[in-house]
Amino acid sequence: MPKELLIQVSPEQATQNAFLKEHVAKLLRTSVKEILHVNILKRSIDARQRSIKINLKLEVFFAGEPITEQKIDLPDYRDVSNAQEVIVVGAGPAGLFAALQLIELGLKPIVVERGKDVRGRRRDLKSINRDHIVNPDSNYCFGEGGAGTYSDGKLYTRSKKRGDVDRILKLLVAFGATPDILVEAHPHIGTNKLPKIIEDIREKIIECGGKVLFDTRVDDILVKNGKVQGIVTQNGDVIEADKIILATGHSARDIFELLHKRKIAIEAKPFALGVRAEHPQQLIDQIQYSCDYRGEFLPPAPYSIVKQVGGRGMYSFCMCPGGVIAPCATSPGEVVTNGWSPSKRDQVTANSGIVVELRLEDFKAFSKFGPLAGMEFQKSIEQRAFHLAGETQKVPAQRMVDFSQSRVSSDIPKTSYVPGTESVELGQVFPGFLTQIMREGFREFGQSMKGYFTNEAILHAPESRTSSPVRIPRDPETLEHIEIEGLYPCGEGAGYAGGIISAAIDGEKCAIKAAESIFRK
Ligand code: FAD
Repeated sequence: MPKELLIQVSPEQATQNAFLKEHVAKLLRTSVKEILHVNILKRSIDARQRSIKINLKLEVFFAGEPITEQKIDLPDYRDVSNAQEVIVVGAGPAGLFAALQLIELGLKPIVVERGKDVRGRRRDLKSINRDHIVNPDSNYCFGEGGAGTYSDGKLYTRSKKRGDVDRILKLLVAFGATPDILVEAHPHIGTNKLPKIIEDIREKIIECGGKVLFDTRVDDILVKNGKVQGIVTQNGDVIEADKIILATGHSARDIFELLHKRKIAIEAKPFALGVRAEHPQQLIDQIQYSCDYRGEFLPPAPYSIVKQVGGRGMYSFCMCPGGVIAPCATSPGEVVTNGWSPSKRDQVTANSGIVVELRLEDFKAFSKFGPLAGMEFQKSIEQRAFHLAGETQKVPAQRMVDFSQSRVSSDIPKTSYVPGTESVELGQVFPGFLTQIMREGFREFGQSMKGYFTNEAILHAPESRTSSPVRIPRDPETLEHIEIEGLYPCGEGAGYAGGIISAAIDGEKCAIKAAESIFRK
């Protein structure tokens, strides 16, 4: 039987298999010849002390024992060509993992996606970055793979259900992700690797008899006597089904408007909003690793920080080490930021959303919009940013210390945000209370992370799509909409996920509930 062992070593030692064998032999008071193989099960960095350590959970195989390797295969997907159809709206992580789960359960998914496939989508991203043109159906949020495709691909979640997380990680490995994601405490995939994995998922859905329709926007949902009947696409085509998994993400404002217009219950939901801060990666390494140069054995350092400021949480969100700030607007006339990293996280800058928690009462000025009040508040800030920066995809920007002192920056150095920046006093972008909290909060961040509060850091505004401003209420047991039979609000847009992994988990859950309901009949 292999033995499991927890050890702590230096970053360099953690990369040397021969050293690990010797170290293990010493710890187990045996000869190194007795150690046949050492397998790393989990790896995390302990940067709490000046001398950084790597925590490893090892699996040790002894001489004479077989080395058993964990084999990760795809589940037994069935041929569902002739099975009952379930419509899945949206090909983000929630929609794609719902589709895979439906196939596993013997049902035929019809995935309906407003955007293009990952290849076609690339051209539209180029257009935003280079020509400042936003295609409302194909952009950083919309298209195959959803908002997660051109992201850092961080794969951790605050979800306590480790089992579910492991299942999604293993499926990603089976679809081509590096097995390292099963080992790292904070795994990520990277923008360059995600598209191929997503293409392979799509190919599998089609190979099993499911359908994936791109360039197909759902413009209406058909409901009769409190039951869903199907959907209507932008061309007026009707696709019928009595089960619809609605996984349209947090940026599908037209879907929220449609539901509200159709008097299908939705609720305003608090979310968070702020800026995207960019620092030199080397500075973040120095702060986090307490060193001048991180060396070749440590990855570009991430950070995570949270403070209570003026009674509200202000925190880092979706931090991308060695990454790039992306223009994530989904309509012309607005500016939105987010961030991505390549798998090696080898860009020279680190960026992170720095956001403040909002409350429903903050949306009071928009109360005439009812449950869409938070969405309208969000939209108004994105539109103000667009106007202030000159009505292109340029982003309003300010140096961090200048922002805290309400001083327009005399210059903004080139940042990773490709469409460009415009020097703006960011207090003009946000309501006064938010500006005040952020001004104070950045100073406080600087007290916890020495060097963080600096004019070398450039703030880009706004970071506004942190989570959905709307919840689509569902029955906690059946996961169906509280009023509409057969409609499964799913993933981040419906308010039940935040991030790739939790969205994928929610997609699977909705598929299981839809299948249970079908097979019960
Ligand atoms: P989405 O991914 O938003 O997918 C919804 C899909 O529905 C989209 O493809 C959209 O085109 C489609 N759709 C919308 N309306 C319609 C309609 N009317 N008809 C048909 N289709 C429609 N999360 C992480 O966990 N880690 C990260 O590193 C990370 N980085 C990110 C970086 C960026 C740049 C962005 C934008 C997001 C990032 N996120 C990250 C967040 C993550 O992408 C989302 O949490 C996740 O994708 C939500 O999944 P979802 O399936 O619920 O919705």
